[in-house]
Amino acid sequence: MEFRDLKRQYEYVKKDMDLRMREVIGRADFIQGEQVAELERRLAAYVGTKHCVACANGTDALQLALMAWGVGEGDAVFVPDFTFFSSGEVASAVKAEPVFVDVEPDTYNMDCAALEAMARRVAREGRLRPKAVVAVDLFGQPADHGRIREIAKRHGMLVLEDAAQGFGGRIGERRAGSFGDISATSFFPAKPLGCYGDGGAVFTDNGEWAELIRSYCVHGRGASKYDNVRIGMNSRLDTLQAAVLLAKLPVFCEKELGWAQAAAGKYTERLGGAATPPFVREGFHSSWAQYTIRLSCKEERDGLQAHLKGLGIPSAVYYQKPMHQQEAFLGNGYDDRDYPVTNSLTRTVLSLPFHPYMEEGEIALVADAVRGYLKG
Ligand SMILES: *Cc1c(COP(=O)(O)O)cnc(C)c1O
Repeated sequence: MEFRDLKRQYEYVKKDMDLRMREVIGRADFIQGEQVAELERRLAAYVGTKHCVACANGTDALQLALMAWGVGEGDAVFVPDFTFFSSGEVASAVKAEPVFVDVEPDTYNMDCAALEAMARRVAREGRLRPKAVVAVDLFGQPADHGRIREIAKRHGMLVLEDAAQGFGGRIGERRAGSFGDISATSFFPAKPLGCYGDGGAVFTDNGEWAELIRSYCVHGRGASKYDNVRIGMNSRLDTLQAAVLLAKLPVFCEKELGWAQAAAGKYTERLGGAATPPFVREGFHSSWAQYTIRLSCKEERDGLQAHLKGLGIPSAVYYQKPMHQQEAFLGNGYDDRDYPVTNSLTRTVLSLPFHPYMEEGEIALVADAVRGYLKG
């Protein structure tokens, strides 16, 4: 069994995929070929923003947003403590300081009360300017963007939605990727919508920011290719990756999101309360980047993972370490007592094999193995 079976997905999309990839190779327009612009138009239409700029990966997408806003030295960027490293790394990369915020014990997304308290503390201390919030849609479920936006507004901060895992999710009818002043996503192969290598995109309604990001991601280009007006980076999406995403996008929207939702429902049903299943808030829809359960303690979690491994069932711990404990950030002097929920989650969560192409028999096999271990 695979943790996320990308080969099965390829079998499903193979015909259109091979055609589209051969077309790019035949034309040899590997960089900034026409599929890139077509993909940007389709993604913007799907997400519901005016602009989409494709780039090389999700980390760059986040960093490009901070660059467009001129975030830098002396700025505080609020980031959930329970997330992938990139969400905070990009703040440090532009010389701002990530201020980590604890998460909710049920959704695992940023805790709004903790955000409010941290924003007040930073404002009171006066060393940093509260500048932006990175709102992560963890494991596929959108963050509580309505409340995060209110808090950000009160403190004069911009919202950067990290929809690397949330792409395809929604709140009501509004899609992930449209909640931030700028939103970023990743097309890393294992994300809800993945390409065949690295890829990412930035979404916004603001034309000025979109143009700045277009410039930053091609060496700060000006009116022409060899006219450089600012220091940027080299962060383009390959035409081949755009072709891969164009082949996958219709299947993702029309089939995979629905299949994932059904698979998640079956998992929860089959687990029958043996462990704490994912909690999705009323009116929120997850894209199911992960199906993550919570156990009662670290011994139980580690024991279950070893038990599953013995049965040939892969699983993963996302995430093993709170952001505030990552060695790269140690100089910032975080207080471990500010993060009780994240500290507990890193000891108790376990992500099970999950993807839209999982069959009911496979889900039953994993769920029975989990129940078997917890009963024994
Ligand atoms: C994967 C991920 C990223 C980074 O995306 P890459 O394309 O790997 O650079 C950022 N944030 C979160 C929450 C992620 O899961």
